[in-house]
Amino acid sequence: MKYLYTIDNSDHTKTDGSIASELDEYITIAGIREIYRSAIEQYPEECCGLILQQGICPCPNIQNQLHQLDPSNYPRTAANAFTFAAADALFLSRNINSTNPVKIIYHSHPDVGAYFSYTDKTSALYEGQPIYPVDHLVIGVQNGSVICAKIFRFIGTEYTLVAIIPGSNDKIFDQLIKGDYND
Ligand SMILES: [Zn+2]
Repeated sequence: MKYLYTIDNSDHTKTDGSIASELDEYITIAGIREIYRSAIEQYPEECCGLILQQGICPCPNIQNQLHQLDPSNYPRTAANAFTFAAADALFLSRNINSTNPVKIIYHSHPDVGAYFSYTDKTSALYEGQPIYPVDHLVIGVQNGSVICAKIFRFIGTEYTLVAIIPGSNDKIFDQLIKGDYND
């Protein structure tokens, strides 16, 4: 899927290959299409899910239930937050060392742009280190279509943008879906 990314050109490449070739192992056009579809379907709420080494796993966002049950502890709704259900969180923590591990946690941002927010960072870290050895994909949805999606990786001491995937209305994405480029 080599034409799908714009990669930040800073020196973030791994010694064993580029980030793009690594991402190509588990990011597919079909997977991105499905993720974009669920981000659009769940707009104006956030969607969330997991990209595995092979396949993707869309997960329900239970933030609204948490907010309804306990608004003082969960002041945000699904419009601007996401929480995995216990079963999905358990799957995530147990599956990291499996033969088909989670590589990326994804969630969408309705109407605020694709960026890794302060809340995203604090919920991904424990004592300054990532809780899970995964990247994060944030899908920016605006007016019901995906503007773009960005992948963030913990490098050194902070999360850094390492790849941008074009939005659902982007010409390149359109060509990819129609098969003008090879996966
Ligand atoms: Zn976020």
